[in-house]
Amino acid sequence: MSHESHSDRDRSFALAKRTHDLIRDYGPSATPRAYAVWYAYVSAELPLLGDAVKRLTTEKGALTEADIDDLHETYLNRHGLENATGDISRVVLGEIAAVTEILDLSLGSTTQYGESLRGLAQDLADGLPNGAGLGEIVATLVSTTREVAVNNRVLEARLRETRSEIETLREKLEATRLESLTDTLTGLSNRKHFEESLKAAIEAARLRAGTMSLIILDIDFFKRFNDLYGHLTGDQVLRLVAIVMRENAGRQAQLARFGGEEFGIILPEADRVLARQVAETVRASVMGRELVKRSTGESLGKITVSLGVAVLRQGDTPAALLERADLCMFVAKRGGRNRAVDDTAEALSQVA
Ligand code: GH3
Ligand code: MG
Ligand code: MG
Repeated sequence: MSHESHSDRDRSFALAKRTHDLIRDYGPSATPRAYAVWYAYVSAELPLLGDAVKRLTTEKGALTEADIDDLHETYLNRHGLENATGDISRVVLGEIAAVTEILDLSLGSTTQYGESLRGLAQDLADGLPNGAGLGEIVATLVSTTREVAVNNRVLEARLRETRSEIETLREKLEATRLESLTDTLTGLSNRKHFEESLKAAIEAARLRAGTMSLIILDIDFFKRFNDLYGHLTGDQVLRLVAIVMRENAGRQAQLARFGGEEFGIILPEADRVLARQVAETVRASVMGRELVKRSTGESLGKITVSLGVAVLRQGDTPAALLERADLCMFVAKRGGRNRAVDDTAEALSQVA
């Protein structure tokens, strides 16, 4: 097929298309004979046949099976089938080559069509068959090509459809994924996302041969606050704590609400000094906020938080790091609340 020039291919395609159009417009149907007659007509190599076709279509507006048989018998058989056949097969070969090449660029599922066309091309190249053989080949070619064309159109439409479906699905999945990772009340990460982030942060620190820290934060006497002012107002406090964390934990911090009134802060590159500093800043900022009920202007006083800080150690699993941060937070509660405790040996020894 590579020896076929583009212009040859273009020409044979144009002829084939014109043949199909004429069969569609003037009939009778895409039989091998009709194809051969109309093909001979559009290739303008048999002027007498051309005249006869023009006369018939002008007179009757269409061709019948009988007309085709007559034309075939009279012009194609008489005027050296050998020649006409040779011509047609050459053009057909070009057509097959072109179709095959297009199919090669097409999807894998159409490979079988390409294969069957290639087989036909081989048949033609191997030796010129007799009239009947050629008719069969042309018929197969016509129907296969048509099938391929239809299949490709269907495939294309389906691909377009599928692509937009996939796009919609992708957007939905992305939205669902974000939803599944987010705590709806505060917009921070939820526990599931937090655990994934913690695992990743630990691995990243190991790869860097660096460190990282984890802070756990729990609101002090929150049950009392809820009892006093109601659960909805309590929810506002949870939102406020999230805001204060965002404002003070630094840009690298990954923030989460575990559910309830406990929060987590992952500090990907923080050592003990930095982690302590962040914990202290958050603690002071929460305490610095005067809570005011917006609807009534009523002051609800202040709330405080207790924090536990754990710094990554060699061999730490996420669970081990979480456990130490938790113990430190417990020590902070026991020590009087409204404070941050980090995981020094001394702090941990206070846990019975
Ligand atoms: P401590 O200082 O020891 O932490 O005391 P606490 O009252 O905060 O601790 P406790 O575990 O006894 O109570 C936690 C309370 O947090 C219980 C519940 O009223 C409140 N709480 C948990 N989840 C939510 C929530 O989603 N919304 C609100 N408004 N309150 C919650
Ligand atoms: Mg708690
Ligand atoms: Mg609490």
